[in-house]
This record gives sequence, C-alpha cells and structure tokens, in this order.
Amino acid sequence: MTKLPQTLASKTPGKIGFISLGCAKALVDSEHILTQLSEEGYVLNADYDSADIIVINTCGFIENAVKESMDTINEALARNGQVIVTGCLGGKKDFIKDEFPEVLAVTGPHATHEVLDAIHQHLPPLPNPLINLIPPGGIKLTPRHYAYIKISEGCNHRCKFCIIPSLRGDLVSRPIDDILNEATKLKAAGVKELLIISQDTSAYGLDLKYRPAIWQGQSYKSDINDLCRALGELGLWIRLHYLYPYPHVDKIIPLMAEGKILPYLDIPLQHASAKILKAMRRPANAENSLARIKSWREICPEIKIRSTFIVGYPGETEDDFQTLLDFLQQARLDRVGCFTYSTIDGAVANALPDPVAESLKQERQQQLMEVQAAISAEKLEAMIGKELQVLVDETVVDEAGDNYIIGRSYGEAPEVDGEIICDYQNSIQPGDFINVKIINADEHDLFAQII
Ligand code: SF4
Repeated sequence: MTKLPQTLASKTPGKIGFISLGCAKALVDSEHILTQLSEEGYVLNADYDSADIIVINTCGFIENAVKESMDTINEALARNGQVIVTGCLGGKKDFIKDEFPEVLAVTGPHATHEVLDAIHQHLPPLPNPLINLIPPGGIKLTPRHYAYIKISEGCNHRCKFCIIPSLRGDLVSRPIDDILNEATKLKAAGVKELLIISQDTSAYGLDLKYRPAIWQGQSYKSDINDLCRALGELGLWIRLHYLYPYPHVDKIIPLMAEGKILPYLDIPLQHASAKILKAMRRPANAENSLARIKSWREICPEIKIRSTFIVGYPGETEDDFQTLLDFLQQARLDRVGCFTYSTIDGAVANALPDPVAESLKQERQQQLMEVQAAISAEKLEAMIGKELQVLVDETVVDEAGDNYIIGRSYGEAPEVDGEIICDYQNSIQPGDFINVKIINADEHDLFAQII
C-alpha cells in the first residue's frame, strides 16, 4: 500500500462551519468562498461545535436581517469561539468589532480573498491537497438542478433607502465570456435552470462600455441583450432577476417570445407614486412602467412579471398609498412581495421627515397584500386547463403518507414565488422535466396532473 507523505499523513483537513444569510447575491459569494476553500483542501463541517472555524456571511439590508446576523454571530461565538464575519454587515467593521471584539476577522461583502487570508492566518491549509473533489460548476448551495449566476457587483444608483452602493461600491460587471464560461460549466454539472442576478441586471456592461468579446466563435457585446442572446443558446432555462424597466430591456422580450429565455421578469418597482419614487431617488416612473408592461405583454402574452414594493416610506400619504393600489389594479402583476419601510444604519432616507407610524405601515402592507392576493388568485385560476413544462424540485411524502411532486414552470422562481404541486410517479426525480396539465389553483400555488 502506498504511504502518505509524512507532512500530509500527520495533518487532517481544516473543518469550516459556514453560515450563509441574506439574498441570492450573498449566496453566490458564499459559493465562491466555499469553492475556493474546497480547492485548498478544507472540509465543510455541519455543526458549530466540532468546526475549527465558523465563517458567517451576514446580511445588513434591513433591521430584521441585521438582528438575525448579530444573533448568529453571538451564537457561533458562544458555541465555538473561532468566528470570521464577512458579507454586507461585515462592511461595518467597527460596529461588529465593538459588539464582538473576540471575532477573529471582519471583511465586507464580495471579499473572497480577504476571507481566505483570514482563514489561512488562523487555520493554515494543507500543504498540498491530494485530491481535487470540486465539481465542474464549483460548490453550490442550491439543489443540483438550478444555480444563481452573478453577472455584476455593486450599483450606480443611489436609492435613498439602500446602503448597497456604500457597502459594495459602483457597478463592476464581469466580462461576458467569463459569465458564459461559468454558465457552460454549470450546464456540464447538471444545472437545468440559471437564475441571473446582480443589483441591477439591466445595467450590465455599462462600466465595460459594452466591450465586445468573442465566445465560441461569435462576437457578443457586454450588454444584457447580447448576454441573454448568448445564454439562450445553451438550451437551459434562463431566468432574469432585478431588472429595471429601461427602454433597452424591451429588446429582451422578443427573446422570451421566441422561447430562448424564460418569459419571466423580476422588476423591483418599489412604489408607484411619483412623489414617493422621487423621494426614494428611484430610477423609474410608474406611468412609463405601465406602458412598458403593456407593450411587453403585446409582444409576449405569456410573460409573468414579479415585483416588490415598499410601503410606509417617510412622507407616504393615503393618496400615495392609493396610487400604489391603483397601479397594482392596472398592472395586474403575477407575483408581488411587499415590505414595510425600515431604517438602515447609514441610509440617506433615515433623515427624511414625516415618518409613517409602524401600525399604519403594517396596515398598508396587509391591505396591499390582500389586493394583490385577489389579483394573483384570478391570474392563477386563468392557468387552469393549460399545459406546462415543469422542472421538478422535490418529491415529497407528507405526514398522511401521501406522495406528491413539487415543481415550477417558467412562471415560478425558486424560493420567492409559488409552486406547482403534481400527482406522483415514482420514476420522477428532482431535476427532471415533466409535462403537466393545471387542474386547480389557489392564491399562491397551482395543482397539476402529469400528462
Ligand atoms: S438600484 Fe437602488 S435599491 Fe437597488 S442596489 Fe442600487 S441603490 Fe440599492
């Protein structure tokens, strides 16, 4: 039997506990760090107590996220003691250090190298890992059949309620060939659906001056339209998140109508009152958005549109709120998320006058969700009788012993939208595509039979 070299035989790989909090963009940062750690021979540890070091990728976007991050750091320190903090909240290094002086290191978001440097300092890597077990698409925290792909970092906008630009800086886009190479690797690793994310997907390539690159013998500009065109050639489900309704986005809609990318758009509109949008310093206006949505539906009638809104922003009157409800009635969006406004340390909006009472914010949130629930229910009911292709997420046995399949069509993004619940066939596995007929609906989910 071959003996291990002494230096390696005497060492075991460092065990890293990793906690990823926050949005899909933070999840992608976590995946990059974990991929790099695995390449260096570290192993991922499932519990706090036996890990050598715990890394916490924090979120600092809203008050609740800050609290969750702080509680997680506290617990990790109590249970293990060796803690490195990274991510959005890590951007406030002094705040973390003041609260938790014992943490080993604090880095900001999108800081893979700094996190690795901190780990190397406290837990050096094996001199030469023997086996590279990294799958072709890198380490993924999502199920094998879908993956998020981040096309840029940072943001050039300065919305007053948001601190992302101060944490992550101005827009920095990845070269288009780099994105396409990653997408190709993910496909080779078994991914069926790619979810395109960034802070502002429609702005992709602006900082690169839309520089062209050759990929697989074809020239593509580094802009969102060419990126969609190239991704559309891969034969995967391509789903776009966080687009703004700018005129150039119109060019993507024909690609949806042709079936090159999914006819699904996630556009975070945040409000509809011109006064509030201006007070938020948002890069959009409601009338243009309505006209745009109408024209998108003319080009691609099956398009599904998701958006998010904030209620209770400082200065929001009953009239402003009514404008938002009227907008929802007219826009008839397919899926809507609604947050109550909350202050974030460092946000410009904190200094705005006329705060809305917490109880009124909650009331408005509930009212908005009721209005939208009726719209969503009608839209989902209209799907009854339609035949759809569904990507299977999981097969389930419930407490009563009944089996069923949970999946999504082009109209549902993972985690944020509803699901399609189908009857069971034991040959079907997560990651399979199936064809179904919709037989029922409620205000969130669709129910289907396999055909
Ligand atoms: S567009 Fe506005 S809300 Fe979105 S990341 Fe940029 S500044 Fe923040």
